[in-house]
Parts: sequence; C-alpha cells; structure tokens
Amino acid sequence: MAWRSSGTSNSELVENLWRNEMITHPEVKSAFLKVDRAHYAPRSPYEDCPQPIGHHATISAPHMHASAVEHLLQFIMPGEERPAPRVLDIGSGSGYLTHVLAELVGERGRVVGVEHIEPLKELGERNMKKSREGRELIEGGRVRFRVGDGRKGWRDEEEQGRKSWDAIHVGAAAVKVHEELLEQLASPGRMFIPVDDEDDPQGWGQHIWCVDKDEKGEVKKRKLFGVRYVPLTDAPKA
Ligand code: SAH
Repeated sequence: MAWRSSGTSNSELVENLWRNEMITHPEVKSAFLKVDRAHYAPRSPYEDCPQPIGHHATISAPHMHASAVEHLLQFIMPGEERPAPRVLDIGSGSGYLTHVLAELVGERGRVVGVEHIEPLKELGERNMKKSREGRELIEGGRVRFRVGDGRKGWRDEEEQGRKSWDAIHVGAAAVKVHEELLEQLASPGRMFIPVDDEDDPQGWGQHIWCVDKDEKGEVKKRKLFGVRYVPLTDAPKA
C-alpha cells in the first residue's frame, strides 16, 4: 500500500498524502495545509509515522489523521442541515487533529478535545497556541480542551448536556464501542473509533470501525482496516 507519504516540509507531506490518495477532498487538503505538524510532533514532524509525545501517548501518523478526517468529513463540514457542527476528539494528545477539525467546522462549529492526562491536555492547548490561527481558535471558543475520561464522551457544560455530537473521533483503542459514546452521537452522526479485535489474536489486534447513526437513530457499524493505537484506558494514578 502506497501510504508512506513523508516529506521535508508540511506542504510536501500534504502533497504526498494527496498524491497517494490518503487525502481526496480539497477541503481536507486545505485544512492540513493550514496546520503545521512541526507545532505538534516533537521530532521529524513531516515523517509519515507515529511519534512519542510523552506519557505513553503518540501523535498518530499523518495518513491516519488523514483517514480519520476523510471518513468524518460530511459530519464535520457546515451545511444547510448542520450549520454549526459539533465535533468531539477523544484522546486529543498532541492537539494536532483537534486543530485540523477546527479548521473544518466553520465559524459557528465547535470542537472539544478530551484527554484523561492533564499534562497532555495542556500540551495540546500549548501546541495549538504556537500559531496565531490556533490561538484565535481557542480564544474565540471554537476549540476547547478538557480533562476527562473519553469513554464517557463529553457533556458540554456550556450547553448543559443537551446537545449531541455530529462527529466523534476516538484517538485510542477501545475495548468496545462504549454505550455512552453511542448515546451522545447525533442522529445522523458518525464515529471513527479503533476497537480491539475479539477474534484473530494473531492479526492486527485492532480495527477502525465507522459507526453511523441515521436520522431514525438506527446504528450501523462497519469494520474498516487494521491499526495499532495506544489503548483507551483508566487514567494513570498520579
Ligand atoms: N489524536 C492524538 C492521539 C494521541 S494518543 C494525536 O494524534 O496526537 C491517544 C491519546 O488518548 C493519549 O494522549 C492518551 O492519553 C489518551 N487517552 C487514553 N485513554 C483515554 C481516556 N480514557 N480518556 C481520554 N483520553 C484517553
């Protein structure tokens, strides 16, 4: 599979992701061009591979970020039926994807990044503030980073838990599709989530699942491809 898309600059990396068809929508390409990975990956930011960011967490590889955004795109972009998309990014880690998502939701959209390790929540916030655009997105309230257990989703205090999420991205491997996440998914809405395999212990160990909830609330799950993510776990004891 021609997914290695490393480059020597952010734009070269994005061009390679485009050429290898990991990014196929111009809107996604333009969002990726706006966010410099150098602000988020501590070393070799334009290499197409995951990298450690401390606390046993990794910033995912660019082609995985691309795949997540490509799959969620129709639920992230503002439109007539969804003028102010609400997006949840669970396991926000470096903050990279949270920022890319914020570039796509439009002026009225909202993105909440949830992290269970406080220093990583702060890392995401700090990384985003390295650019003027990132600072403005945080100061303007389009993006919020919060500390919490992502397996429970996030009930937004400002909206008193009433509103659901149009798109949920989970950046760590879950043991199952947690019921609370499904409950918080809008109708229609989509979740992109790595889940541990129940069978095939010799295989990848995890697969990405695309979970759709339709207008009537009916849920359909599709198993997409094998991956290796860090686990969605209890927070480590301080
Ligand atoms: N999207 C991030 C991925 C970071 S790795 C990036 O590309 O930078 C996965 C993250 O999930 C880690 O930062 C880890 O701390 C976090 N995590 C693991 N279990 C969690 C849980 N129960 N709730 C919230 N975050 C969790």
